Amino acid sequence: MKHTKIKELLQSADVKAEVYAKGWVRTFRNNQFVALNDGSTIHNIQCVVDFENTSADTLKRITTGAAIAVKGALIESKGAGQRFEIQVKELEILGDSDPEKFPMQPKKHSLEFLRENAHLRVRTNAFGAIMRVRSVLSFAVHQYFQEKGFVYVNTPIITGSDAEGAGEMFKVTALPFDGTPRTEDGKVDYKKDFFGKETNLTVSGQLEGETFAMALGQIYTFGPTFRAENSNTSRHLAEFWMIEPEVAFNDLEDNMDLAEDFIQYVIKYVVEKCADDLKFLEGRLLEEEKQKPQAERSELALLDKLQFVLNNNFKRVSYTEAIDILRNSKPNKNKKFNYIIDEWGADLQSEHERYLVEKHFKCPVILFDYPANIKAFYMRLNEDGKTVRAMDILFPGIGEIVGGSQREERYDVLVEKMKALGIDEEELWWYLDTRRFGSAVHSGFGLGFERLVLFVTGMTNIRDVIPFPRTPQNAEF
Ligand code: ATP
Ligand code: MG
Ligand code: MG
Ligand code: MG
Repeated sequence: MKHTKIKELLQSADVKAEVYAKGWVRTFRNNQFVALNDGSTIHNIQCVVDFENTSADTLKRITTGAAIAVKGALIESKGAGQRFEIQVKELEILGDSDPEKFPMQPKKHSLEFLRENAHLRVRTNAFGAIMRVRSVLSFAVHQYFQEKGFVYVNTPIITGSDAEGAGEMFKVTALPFDGTPRTEDGKVDYKKDFFGKETNLTVSGQLEGETFAMALGQIYTFGPTFRAENSNTSRHLAEFWMIEPEVAFNDLEDNMDLAEDFIQYVIKYVVEKCADDLKFLEGRLLEEEKQKPQAERSELALLDKLQFVLNNNFKRVSYTEAIDILRNSKPNKNKKFNYIIDEWGADLQSEHERYLVEKHFKCPVILFDYPANIKAFYMRLNEDGKTVRAMDILFPGIGEIVGGSQREERYDVLVEKMKALGIDEEELWWYLDTRRFGSAVHSGFGLGFERLVLFVTGMTNIRDVIPFPRTPQNAEF
């Protein structure tokens, strides 16, 4: 007899004479009530053990974390909360869990402690919920683009270029740790390395993606991205997943429309498909909010916050307008920003971004037309010669969630820009080919998948929305 998932059992139309379930014990009360979970749902099924007919040894081995199988009748549950429970006839211990040693006892653990046990934290309700939401969200990403006819392109993970020019790359080498070949002037001789040149883990699939968009029309990548971020923040990982659509014949406005439509679609999808998990996470957050002083509590509960994003357009504001707002604002009664923007051309700090989103507009914001000198080389220069057709989407509680742009399609302008920035044209000869042969207006964006999961789950640290976080000094697993 094949076992049935607990989610299915709980959704049964009626009682059943015999069911078979397997899972892990969450709690065992009064030598009688097992709360069993198998990961298919946030809900445990209550299994009522027949302790008269169960050996003392077996009863002792029903401990938190143990894997068990139960056979019995699915009956109406008298207790509050659930329609069904299992009246156990046979119980088999599949895998013991020593209660003295199992770290995930049912009590409130700090997130810090749970991070140190990333392989076990998924056994808690919160992390089970987060990981199911993450999974459904990634399916929604594919569904959105596939429905619209985008081609999914797997851009390379090992690359020879630094798309962002931010110098945050992890090097890839097959050179031996000692005996590394050197050039005459003592530098590492990458010509003798595996690929015959310097290579690194990708920081973005955009440049390769553009070349495919200029043949397939609309493409997207969704893959792991690596950045040697040298600071420890709650928004940055060294390994994260990025969603990067790229569309030929789309300008910046089309790009904003696409990003907004996409984000609303995937959030709507997950709100419908993960109602139970999100409700659980909302409850968890409300508990946390209660610990905070009134003034610091968030105004909206999680599901209301998600609905708000679905029901309201993102506010579109130019960089120049944003600077004016920031100059004329007082973030708190008499306080100033730590970092005062008094000159047009400065990059916004996250305190400014969050002020715009959370205090001023009180909704997601799309900032566009940034100064050229603070953005990457490939962005389309505006006719003013000073700004580029760039956009960042800012979300409450998160800050930047999307960075995108219309790309510079004019060969000469692009080459000028590269020269000015000291970017080697020969290195990017293949990229420049898209501007040599059949160039056209095109645009795209990059959305950090974990930042989206952060927003949807209401979590506040990016380490808590990816299975095994990679951050400075931390690659334990
Ligand atoms: P930030 O300003 O937050 O460092 P960025 O401007 O460097 O981000 P982009 O190069 O614009 O990032 O990348 C596109 C998107 O990828 C960002 O909007 C963000 O959602 C996500 N992202 C960038 N760096 C990271 C990271 N280290 N960890 C997680 N997500 C990231
Ligand atoms: Mg960055
Ligand atoms: Mg940024
Ligand atoms: Mg950016």
